[in-house]
Amino acid sequence: MKTCIAAALAAALAFAGAPSRAANPLFPQLYTADPAVLVENGRAYLYVGHDEAEPGGKDFVMNEWRVFSSCDLTHWTDHGAPMKALDFKWAKGRAWASDITRRVVDGKPAYFFYATVEHGSIPGFAIGVARSDSPLGPFTDARGSALITNDMTTQTDIAWDDIDPAIFVDDDGQAYLYFGNTVLKYVKLKGSMTELAGPINAVAVKDFTEASYLHKHRGTYYLSYSQHFPEETAYMTGPSAIGPWTPRGVIMARNEKTPTIHQAIFEFNGKSYIAYHNAKLPGGGEFRRSVAIEELHYNADGTIRFVPQTDAGPAANPSPGCKG
Ligand code: CA
Repeated sequence: MKTCIAAALAAALAFAGAPSRAANPLFPQLYTADPAVLVENGRAYLYVGHDEAEPGGKDFVMNEWRVFSSCDLTHWTDHGAPMKALDFKWAKGRAWASDITRRVVDGKPAYFFYATVEHGSIPGFAIGVARSDSPLGPFTDARGSALITNDMTTQTDIAWDDIDPAIFVDDDGQAYLYFGNTVLKYVKLKGSMTELAGPINAVAVKDFTEASYLHKHRGTYYLSYSQHFPEETAYMTGPSAIGPWTPRGVIMARNEKTPTIHQAIFEFNGKSYIAYHNAKLPGGGEFRRSVAIEELHYNADGTIRFVPQTDAGPAANPSPGCKG
């Protein structure tokens, strides 16, 4: 009888739309990391890396990216894998952090996906760029070769100092690609979005680790990133996409079960949000992470308030006319 009551109650709750679990982490069905976000026509597209390490694994096992979408940031549709690391034929594997942007090219919207992978013949990690005519993919290699390779930067001799692409297109159409581990770097891109338009520039940032991310809010540029290790999310502000930058402090505190955190900051239906990862799913850990989101608030002076991690996540923010 108890079972019947429990089942009836569960059915009633489901019918009423009541959540049967906390909203965060967002995707209980798999381990995910390194979120990137695109918002278009009232729908948010969330791209993640797929953590496939076994319990107790000692390294990342990441072969593909996955994409989910939502009309309200609480109900998410799983669209599968829009690309795998080996879709870059020159890559050895390892689907590490990515970022996404939309740009009209030759009169048609195109979606450019920048992604970290391990290079097959040039030792170290590289950044590739792939293109699709849909935010859901499939994405295909837009160059047939890496956009950034490890040998193009030499400030440090580690093999992973050219990871974590962050793509930003300014109001004047100029695209900037920020990236880097240990040393932050950026390079301008041509309008094609697949070619460098100048030299790679290093940016001196105290305690910088990785996961740079550039966004603009009310005329101010915000360059957020992970600092220290274990990582916390910090940010700087500036008057242009290349600074000069003023350090502004910490947005989010470090995780307990994974040393990484990797944010993306975006606006959706008039509110601001931060996507990040922790390791709060059952069985989670450094190589079995889970993406979550929170609402993010700006103070009147443009600074960002500290964001606590929550299990509840943000309130539903439904887009008019968006379904599914
Ligand atoms: Ca390098």
